[in-house]
Amino acid sequence: MENKTFNILRKCLFCGCELKGAPQKQYASGDMIKCKQCEEMNDYNSLQEVALEKGKGEVLQYAKVEISKMLKKAFK
Ligand SMILES: [Zn+2]
Repeated sequence: MENKTFNILRKCLFCGCELKGAPQKQYASGDMIKCKQCEEMNDYNSLQEVALEKGKGEVLQYAKVEISKMLKKAFK
């Protein structure tokens, strides 16, 4: 679960490229992750927020598809 979450987090907020931090490193709130592409410092908290928003959107999309499937079945 933790690994999965972190995979979503690892996108640079500035250039959108994948953040290649140390794979074994456990990032915590307040940490800064430097992007090797544009050399901007990504704030871990912001990355987490973005990932959370993205996650919510994906869950919502999934729910919509499932609900429409259910409705189609119900009205057959
Ligand atoms: Zn970058």
